[in-house]
Parts: sequence; C-alpha cells; structure tokens
Amino acid sequence: MKTILVTGGTGYIGSHTAVELQAVGYDVIIADNLVNSTASVIDRIERISNGKRPLFIKADLSNETEAAAIFDNNKIDGIINFAAFKAVGESCEKPIEYYRNNLQIAINMFVNMKKHGIKYFVQSSSCTVYGEPDSNPISENTPPKFAVSPYGNTKQMVEDMLQFITQTGEIKAIALRYFNPVGAHPTALIGELPNGIPNNLMPYITQTAAGIRKQLTIFGNNYPTPDGTCIRDYIHVVDLAKAHVVAMDRFFEHKNKANFEAFNIGTGNGFSVLDIIKSFEKTTGIKLNYCFGERRAGDVVRIWADTTFAEKELGWKAELSIDEMTLSAWHWQQQLAQE
Ligand code: UDP
Repeated sequence: MKTILVTGGTGYIGSHTAVELQAVGYDVIIADNLVNSTASVIDRIERISNGKRPLFIKADLSNETEAAAIFDNNKIDGIINFAAFKAVGESCEKPIEYYRNNLQIAINMFVNMKKHGIKYFVQSSSCTVYGEPDSNPISENTPPKFAVSPYGNTKQMVEDMLQFITQTGEIKAIALRYFNPVGAHPTALIGELPNGIPNNLMPYITQTAAGIRKQLTIFGNNYPTPDGTCIRDYIHVVDLAKAHVVAMDRFFEHKNKANFEAFNIGTGNGFSVLDIIKSFEKTTGIKLNYCFGERRAGDVVRIWADTTFAEKELGWKAELSIDEMTLSAWHWQQQLAQE
C-alpha cells in the first residue's frame, strides 16, 4: 500500500484528488494550514470514500520545522503538491508573500524528499505558464511566456526548479498544467469554497443564481472571438483529480520517459463566457442576471489545450461535459445554502 502526501488537500482540487486516490487504493495523508479551507472537508472525504479517512495534519508547510515533522513521523511514498496561495490579483498586491509561501513550500518538500529518499512528486501547475498563445490548441512544448502575475510566476519557478532538481535522478516529477477547473463532486459534498467575492467565473455564476451576488459582469464583449467574450478550456474537477492519480501511477509503474514531464490537463475544447452561461441556464433552468462590463486587465483572449500528449502518454482523457460541469457546480452551491 502506497501512501501519498497531498499538500493543500482540504482545498478544492486537493480534496477531489484525495477522494480519487483513496478510490483506487492509495493511503492519503493531507497536510494543510486551513487558511483557505476547513477541516470538515476531511469528514466529507471520508463519507464519499465509504468510511476511508485520510490522515489529516494541520501544518504550515512553508515552515521548515512543521514540514520536517510530517516526514519524520510518517512513511511517505509520493507527494502531490497543491499547497499554495492562488489568487492572481492578490499576488500582485502581496508579491513577496506569494514568492515566500509558494516557493518555500516547494523547497521544504524537496529537502525532505531528499532526506527520506522519496522519489515521486506531482506539481499543481497551470496553463498560465503559456501566457497569451500565438495559436490554439496549445501544446506542452510551446515555450512558457513571461508571467503576468507573481502567482503565475511561482508556478513557472517551481517547474523551473523541478527541471534542474530532477536532473540528478533522485527525484522524478510531473507538472500538471491545469486549464480552468470547475464543477464539483457528484455527491455535492465537496466543491470550491471561494473566500469572499469570487474572482473566478463559475463560483460567480452560481452565487449570482443563488442570490448572493446581484449580477454577473462579463469582462468584455468586444474580443476577437465569435461572440466577443473570452475563450477558455473548462475542465471538470473530477476529471482533473483523476489525472493526478494517473500521474502518480505512472511513477510506480515506471512509465516515465523523462525525470521531469509536463502535461496539459484540459478537455481540448474552448468555450466562451457566454457558452458557459448558456450551459448553466440550460442545465439549471435558471435565468442568470448578467451584464457586459470592461475588459479585465491581464485576461488572455483565448486558450485551449492540445491534449494529444496527455492522451497518448498518460492514457488519460477528460470525460465530463460542460453541462456536467455547470450542473454539478450548481448542485454544490445549493448544498452550501443548506448548511
Ligand atoms: N469572467 C467574467 N466575469 C467574472 C469572472 C470571470 O467575465 O466575474 C471571465 C474572465 O474574464 C475570463 C473567464 O471568465 O474570460 C474565466 O475567468 P476565471 O477568472 O474563471 O479564470 P482565468 O482563466 O482568468 O484563470
């Protein structure tokens, strides 16, 4: 039985990944400082997993002593690293905090991997490493562009560190470059819990439909796209969670072709903001209150993934549709309202 440390495991993507890891037989240790999540997520993971409960350790992984204690006290076979500050806008206001936290966490993981002979590391990365693509779909061998935010830069920097760290052969790493994760677990027991006013589209839509926000503002309707709104590759969080399991299996099955590999994790389809709203209105039967506003600074116009490499190498492909994404996000929102 292999034990996987899931850092940031009470968060949105981490919690879904813990469920999928347990479903195929991995033991899971979740370490999280709960700055952006709650410990009750562990109970929910246990419920979804028919009574199998991850070990939970409350710790600030950017703290050397707290990080080291986890490794000194537990046998760990691999790490999936979600723990990070993740708000693009906030990262521009607090760049030093973002660099300190996100990079220090990664470094503390690497130091302890070396100390304890842990070989396998999956990094939560992002399509923000590509910036505005010259053409779509975008493939993994497209060189990263200069990051538009400190947040995006920390994702690039951890990938850069991994490129070099893995060259000694002691550590093997996979970076998963997510496109736009949305939706929630079909049980509606776990999902995205944004802090305050959501920055992202899907929670803003569901909160508007629930009456928590008055109106969704669509940021720009004069982009050079078919309907004038930006295009993204939205991916269901359950599909995304499964990609992490496949990446971890790849290490244990010795299928890696290089010590460091990066994969796009998207569906390969681009949907506009208006497409998402149409899907939401269709699946829920709710008419969404929205208006058009100014463009948001730093938004890329259009991006969607070339998924050929992930399909061929990982044998992984997203399965859930845009309608399943919008409907599950709504079910989660409804469930939250009952709490
Ligand atoms: N968006 C919007 N209104 C909002 C939030 C987002 O129109 O309140 C748009 C945003 O401009 C982008 C898309 O929705 O085109 C996805 O934005 P999100 O912040 O969810 O993800 P990003 O791709 O920026 O990481």
